[in-house]
Amino acid sequence: MNQDVMERANQACELCASQSAVSTYVVPPRSDDNPTHALAMCKTCMDQLKGEAEIDPNHWRSLNDSMWSEVDAVKVIAWRMLDRMRDLGWPQDLLDMIYLEESAMEWATSASDLPGPKHLDSNGSEICQGDNLVLIKTLDVKGSNVAVKKGDVVKNIRLVLDNTEQVIGRIDGQEIVLLTQYLRKSK
Ligand SMILES: [Zn+2]
Repeated sequence: MNQDVMERANQACELCASQSAVSTYVVPPRSDDNPTHALAMCKTCMDQLKGEAEIDPNHWRSLNDSMWSEVDAVKVIAWRMLDRMRDLGWPQDLLDMIYLEESAMEWATSASDLPGPKHLDSNGSEICQGDNLVLIKTLDVKGSNVAVKKGDVVKNIRLVLDNTEQVIGRIDGQEIVLLTQYLRKSK
């Protein structure tokens, strides 16, 4: 996987084109070993992205070019960094121009690259975007006639980004917010 990504990137950072200390980064909440879910990044970009170094806005001027990448993983990180710096003005201008397909935009907004609390199921296992989860309790969904029973599998859930106790699942065609404490990962 790493080799595929590095080849695609010509061994250079796909955000700023630097060729020093380049490694691969899987863009959360994607977790599997698929080259389309990762990008090549230099240490300067990586440290600032992950909050391990202070953001140097000038370093990110290169997003002006890299945001036009055809690789979704690159566009997703470009969007997230621009979003974090949007108060500076020029990043907002770029955000107005960047184009992400609906699925890429959902990816961009569904997780953070900064360390922080994670979504955990009732067993304490980390829940990732797109997981299939089993209900461990029959739920009474207020204001709806949706039946949600213990043992039901909710497929392809989405994480609620600002609340690690909630995920969104689709049941009988309706999107419902579910509490992670009543879910466990399906095998
Ligand atoms: Zn870089």
